[in-house]
Amino acid sequence: MRTNDIFALGLGLTPPWQVLSQRLDTEKTPHELHLDLGADRGATYPCPTCGRNCKAHDFEEFIWRHLNFFQHHCYLTARVPRVTCPKHGTRRIVVPWARPGSNFTLLFEQVVMILAREMPVATVASFVGTTDKRLWRVINHYVAEAMKRVDLSRLKAFGLDETACKRGQRYVTIFIDLDREDRPVIFATEGKGKQTVQLFREHIISKGGHPNRVLEVVSDMSGSFIAAVEEHFPQADLTVDWFHVVQLFTTAVDEVRKAESKERALPKGTRWGVLKGCETAKTQTQAEALQEIESEAFATAVAYRIKEQLRWVRRAETHQAAKWRSTNFLKYARDLVADELLLAPVAKAIRTFEKHLERILFRWCSWHTNARLEGLNGLFQAARARARGYRNVANFITMIYLIAAPIGDLIVK
Ligand SMILES: [Zn+2]
Repeated sequence: MRTNDIFALGLGLTPPWQVLSQRLDTEKTPHELHLDLGADRGATYPCPTCGRNCKAHDFEEFIWRHLNFFQHHCYLTARVPRVTCPKHGTRRIVVPWARPGSNFTLLFEQVVMILAREMPVATVASFVGTTDKRLWRVINHYVAEAMKRVDLSRLKAFGLDETACKRGQRYVTIFIDLDREDRPVIFATEGKGKQTVQLFREHIISKGGHPNRVLEVVSDMSGSFIAAVEEHFPQADLTVDWFHVVQLFTTAVDEVRKAESKERALPKGTRWGVLKGCETAKTQTQAEALQEIESEAFATAVAYRIKEQLRWVRRAETHQAAKWRSTNFLKYARDLVADELLLAPVAKAIRTFEKHLERILFRWCSWHTNARLEGLNGLFQAARARARGYRNVANFITMIYLIAAPIGDLIVK
């Protein structure tokens, strides 16, 4: 067997294609192996549209990066014909080893997609020896293709949340299917608020789904989300995720702490001591700080106590019990914050809680677990890390899909 035949076999070449020659370029670092592909003169090629074998009209040379051959970078070169099909006219043929327009072979892209599922794109780029900018083009392509195959025709319940692509700028809103245990992300789009919900509705329709079949939506307490869900998903009950209730009060506690620290010195360890729940293990310093702010009557201690009292509401077993506990919680909290200027952020959180109470309580009637949106935070962090170095909104969304969308086979032959 000749060397060229071995290469042809390794590349999976089918007639009329064959390896015409090979050349190792040792001037370059790393060395480059160039394989020149071609066909016999007078060979016929299938029309890209109908598959009919046609004669070549003219040729143009193309180069593709292929998998490394041992430590050498490997390139394929071929003169690719345009054929003249009696039905479809003069068309460039599609070569069996690469997709149209790509500078990489299919096998190379396949390896890239496998690696991109496991590590940051910048790491994949240095591993295979190319730029991450080029790899993003490949990854964006395959992920977008795979997302087209996601079926939303039976979607009944979804959750949504927003996150910043970079700290404090360019928001992305993510939609998850609440009935999917694993890889629940079904849509993500730039922006936050009303318009993203409308875009999602259009997306569902384009994927064979029906907005009126959606019976439950879980979100945070943002007014624009709520109004948009009511408008675009009229059949859906809206539940406010418990995670966002806790977040609301946690943020308020932190604001109180910051404001109070400007007036009097808080003991070391206060910040994390009050941010952690009473069920989370604390360091000795944090535990002592909590005791001290309590006995010294700091406003931060009151804010912390209110936040922790929420757990009592959360532990209610029925909707009725939760309703009763909420009423008591509100009374208890309102009394504590009354007339205390430093506790204004908590007073505001209490008003928000009260305003959304019905939707918050709906979680006790819902058949979906409410831990889902909380889990998204970890996903956002992972996606940011994996898209590092070359992060824009499109890449960030691609990475979220790659990590958490229901896309199994990324390469379809
Ligand atoms: Zn044709």
